[in-house]
Amino acid sequence: MLKVIVAGAAGRMGQEVVKAVLAENDLSLVGAVDINNYGEDIGLLAAGKPCGVPVTGNLGRVIEETHADVVVDFTTPDNIRCNLNTVLTHHVHAVVGTTGLSEEDISDINRMAEEAGVGIVIAPNFAIGAVLMMKFAAEAARYLKNVEIIELHHDRKLDAPSGTAIKTAELIKGTRDKYRQGHPDEQEKFLGVRGGEYDGMRIHSIRLPGLVAHQEVIFGGLGQTLTIRHDSISRESFMPGVILAVRRVTDLKGVTYGLEKLLTE
Ligand code: NAD
Repeated sequence: MLKVIVAGAAGRMGQEVVKAVLAENDLSLVGAVDINNYGEDIGLLAAGKPCGVPVTGNLGRVIEETHADVVVDFTTPDNIRCNLNTVLTHHVHAVVGTTGLSEEDISDINRMAEEAGVGIVIAPNFAIGAVLMMKFAAEAARYLKNVEIIELHHDRKLDAPSGTAIKTAELIKGTRDKYRQGHPDEQEKFLGVRGGEYDGMRIHSIRLPGLVAHQEVIFGGLGQTLTIRHDSISRESFMPGVILAVRRVTDLKGVTYGLEKLLTE
């Protein structure tokens, strides 16, 4: 039985992870950490049924008291480095959905995780459809080099662009020839209206209530366009990927970046 702590347990994703972990026979929820909802039974909060695990505020102490195997983190971009330092100091494996980590962060964490002998799975998107959308976009970019990424999220999201948009842009950078697209003389009448620039392509971030997590990758060629779109219409979409990562992470060492690394063909 794998013992699991959820950090950010009272948040939108954290509550969904709590429900998913409670539903699996081979996983045991031993801790729920959040800066909100102290003392509340997390089962009652997330699934309407008590599970005997109260929300507490100190990740390090919960790891020591429960001897957990895995911490699943869905907190905030400004907090994730600190939580991972705690996880690595305690030699516990982690599954990280929190976005906002830079390439340098990930390479630091990889070095520290290898030294500590633990596995850390970091995925900007745990939905299988989103992983496929990124893969197909990278493939299309071999043939259609003009591309814009439009990511759409709920308006409580703190970081922009999304981790998924960054990962998509990185993958496209790896498959298309270096190219600066658009008219060389184009001018923005409103600052930022053409989106953010990454390796010659543009990324646009839309934030609206009612949205969950969506992305379109639009390619343009002579007389044609190709749109690859993924929609997470519910946070349940991320759970099979999160549970897969929880089960696999204890066999890993260092950072595994991207859910696709855990999927077998
Ligand atoms: P949220 O604001 O609903 O939840 C974040 C929770 O973290 C809150 O309950 C907050 O109180 C808690 N928190 C903040 N600081 C903390 C700390 N120091 N210790 C413990 N808890 C703390 O946000 P959300 O929509 O659940 O998203 C959480 C993160 O997950 C974001 O970075 C988001 O971009 C990311 N996300 C990733 C995926 C994916 O598939 N990888 C999918 C959706 C969201």
